[in-house]
Amino acid sequence: MEKRNEKKTVCPVFEKCGGCQLLDKSYDKQLSWKKDQVSALLQPYGKIDGIEGMEHPEYYRHKVHAVFGRDRKGNVISGVYKEGTHIIVPVEKCLIENQVAGEIIQTIKGLLKSFKIKTYDEDTGYGLLRHVLVRVGYRTGQVMVVLVLGSPIMPSKNNFVKALRKEHPEITTVVVNVNDKRTSMILGDKEQVIYGPGYIEDELCGLTFKISPKSFYQVNPEQTQKLYRTAIAYADLNGKETVLDAYCGTGTIGMIAAAKAGRVIGVELNKDAVRDAIAGAKKNHISNIRFYQADAGEFMVKLAEAGERVDVVLMDPPRSGSDEKFLASVVKLKPERVVYISCNPETLARDLKYLCGKGYRMVKGKAYDMFPFTSHVESTVLLQRR
Ligand code: SAH
Repeated sequence: MEKRNEKKTVCPVFEKCGGCQLLDKSYDKQLSWKKDQVSALLQPYGKIDGIEGMEHPEYYRHKVHAVFGRDRKGNVISGVYKEGTHIIVPVEKCLIENQVAGEIIQTIKGLLKSFKIKTYDEDTGYGLLRHVLVRVGYRTGQVMVVLVLGSPIMPSKNNFVKALRKEHPEITTVVVNVNDKRTSMILGDKEQVIYGPGYIEDELCGLTFKISPKSFYQVNPEQTQKLYRTAIAYADLNGKETVLDAYCGTGTIGMIAAAKAGRVIGVELNKDAVRDAIAGAKKNHISNIRFYQADAGEFMVKLAEAGERVDVVLMDPPRSGSDEKFLASVVKLKPERVVYISCNPETLARDLKYLCGKGYRMVKGKAYDMFPFTSHVESTVLLQRR
């Protein structure tokens, strides 16, 4: 009972929002729970070197999403979908979201009435504002606001931007994204930049990266830097290797590795991310890296068929893990080392089973707490060819 009260004081929407599954555990307990989970799943293949947590585990999310709607009384609300539903749980303060982003969302909520902007109704399709997405640069402090609208015309958008920036001069760009489909995807295809350059930049491990509304960028940059440093140390590069950065997003890992490699090949499915990756390489004056937009599995098959040589594979697939096409090509290409970065230890274990049955062994691994208070855990593993 006592614990329950403790949770409620930490977050008024605990269990309603569903985001922070571990909020009722102390931070130390959360870490050991995560470490045990990864250790148990990877135990058939090798041992991990513990878990690295955060010194201050709050407000780490640098990408914040709020869905807009109305409550039963017709008041404008913003918050999150209750897990697995389209019911909006109003959130005014969040323990894990960047605080500047949270304040911007509250300001937008307050501005709607005077600008006569109605929130979108998912049932009727009536109304304008569906979602707000805010991304904050961890090092640069640049702020991008994406207004997701149900139709392309936003009345008095310039004055809206002016009013918003008056309260939050830290905002460096505002983008309107149009999503007129009845879908659970947040962002639609059409975009219009209404203030600033349409993207933000951030720095990780000493390099600058460009982040557009749709490109993937890790939500917890502080932990990401620690994870990347370990992954690159695992790759043990000597300046001559050909490195493949698979599922490369905006090319972050590959660009950081490039200084220590002969050349790097990045492959990623999302075309906006690839565009940002190419711009990033230019901005950072990295000339030994090439990016390709393709399915990582299909790309690997082609590399293997072409008889290409790859010395090290860095791979960072989504939660669903990699696929047999990709893994079978890894086995064919025979890289000396594979560094696997994973946001889901279950699919990591599944993929390790495949690689460890086909000529690789797990040398070491480490878990990183990228998502404190939630049940998610990130880890990285080094595999060596037998
Ligand atoms: N390495 C990057 C991104 C990791 S997230 C970083 O650390 O920032 C996983 C990425 O895999 C996403 O950018 C996603 O768009 C991409 N992706 C998902 N499925 C893919 C596939 N089949 N082939 C290539 N990339 C894929």
